[in-house]
Amino acid sequence: MSEAKNFIEQIVESDLAEQKIKAVKTRFPPEPNGYLHIGHAKSMFVNFGTALKYNGSCNLFFDDTNPAKEKTEFVEAIKNDIHWLGYSWDKEVYASDFFEIIYNYAERLIQEGKAFVCDLSAEEIKATRGTLTEPGTESPYRTRSVEENLKLFREMRAGKYADGEKCLRAKIDMSSPNLNMRDPVIYRILRATHHRTGDKWCIYPMYDYAHPICDALQGVTHSLCTLEFEDHRPLYDWVGINLGFAPKPRQIEFARLNVTNLVMSKRYLKKLVEDGSVHGWDDPRMPTLAGLRNRGIPAAAVRDFCERAGVAKANSECEISYFEAVVREYLNAHAPRAMAVVDPLKLTITNYEGSEEIDFEINQLDENAGTRKVKFGKTLYIEKGDFSLDPPPKYFRLKIGGFVRLKNAYIVRADEAVKDKDGNVVEVKCTYFPESKSGNDTSGIKAKGVLHWVNAETAVDAELRQYDHLLKDADYAGQDFSERMNVNSEHIFAAKAEPYLSSAQEGEAFQLMRTGYYKKCTENKKLVLSEIVSLKDNFNK
Ligand code: ATP
Ligand code: MG
Repeated sequence: MSEAKNFIEQIVESDLAEQKIKAVKTRFPPEPNGYLHIGHAKSMFVNFGTALKYNGSCNLFFDDTNPAKEKTEFVEAIKNDIHWLGYSWDKEVYASDFFEIIYNYAERLIQEGKAFVCDLSAEEIKATRGTLTEPGTESPYRTRSVEENLKLFREMRAGKYADGEKCLRAKIDMSSPNLNMRDPVIYRILRATHHRTGDKWCIYPMYDYAHPICDALQGVTHSLCTLEFEDHRPLYDWVGINLGFAPKPRQIEFARLNVTNLVMSKRYLKKLVEDGSVHGWDDPRMPTLAGLRNRGIPAAAVRDFCERAGVAKANSECEISYFEAVVREYLNAHAPRAMAVVDPLKLTITNYEGSEEIDFEINQLDENAGTRKVKFGKTLYIEKGDFSLDPPPKYFRLKIGGFVRLKNAYIVRADEAVKDKDGNVVEVKCTYFPESKSGNDTSGIKAKGVLHWVNAETAVDAELRQYDHLLKDADYAGQDFSERMNVNSEHIFAAKAEPYLSSAQEGEAFQLMRTGYYKKCTENKKLVLSEIVSLKDNFNK
């Protein structure tokens, strides 16, 4: 963990030092209306991470004030994703746990003359709100008596009025320079079955009113949210002050995580799932945590990325290649190596007989990784692209008369290419040099290229999947998501793989030598190697 402190940590440290708080308490506040994405990982890093760093605690707070879109299915998925990312919450809390208390606070505001029932329609409220340069107009219902307001509000709760017929508004200031302070709506009538409270309520509190109350009831000290809530902070504070919360939670805003080529809006991700553009919420191309997990991206790399992307006060966009570089760095250090050949070309070693086991280095970057046995033999497969009949200058792969090393095995020389009737090379005949064995090479032969290979006798068939980004690159930034959609972003190839991969653990990540990082899985008894990230580093450090 880096020693430099971000601005939120600085605030928390000084609040602790000045004994304004005893311990830091945060909350991660998803709305259960979809799956979490990598942007939420950033929010978790900030909320859970800050609490963890200062020995505080973080609640999981479901912001479920909008019953029309929320579902228990999403609640379960969100909990699963948080655990996967490696965080655990103190208490699991729902805004709906507090509906009665939130309601009672609204009655209190009415009693104190700080809220009124308004009969204007949503359109009328919008039309009388004013603009950034002009004040709004006060509602004709603003001067209703406390008694009348209480009666009407209770009737709202009892279901006497139709959806949208009335609402409760805070009585603040129609000429405030901040539009959010111009008598904001704090309760609306909505007949929708809530995933937890069912049909108990037909009025629901608005986010801006409910959130500060829920924070205070949980003892949240720092309510960390994204920058778009900055303009809402005066209302957050108004609620806290007028309801007399002491100590009052402090709202602090930080920049959202935006990543090029990634869609980060739940609404749009949902559309992709619903219109079949992807295989589901956990499609390996999706930036959802379920998608990243299914892709084989380690949770530690996601956390690391969130940390390295930093916690800033101004919005910016991060390159997808930076995320990939972080994932690659992690896998390079941790993923065992294995071999698979995508476009196989038969290689026959004419002077080799029998078979033997060679020692294959599991991960040369990890001194404890050791080696495993791989069967070597007379007939192998190499990549078609690793042999050329017409090589350009400085070609270090295989050419007639040229030498290459077969990874962790012997040096071979290509002698002859066998062609089919159409002139395609279908086999290369080679000579091997027994004294050139890796680890004990006394041959004195120089071979610049090292090729990966699989033994044809033991190879298993595999399906190799590669992915492009779901969205076309930044050049298309001005365009709508649907125009930027990369429709053909999944590519499937037939491959030959070492049998070791078949018996490896499901979901394990490998570096397929010279190919990329891949996750092993089995589908319909078939070995599937699914790309996590390519080997090539596009990120310009
Ligand atoms: P979306 O716009 O994708 O629906 P949201 O903000 O509406 O996201 P919530 O469930 O309300 O989704 O998000 C929970 C928390 O995660 C909020 O505090 C929100 O600010 C934060 N969050 C969402 N997206 C990002 C992001 N890209 N970077 C950082 N934090 C984010
Ligand atoms: Mg939100």
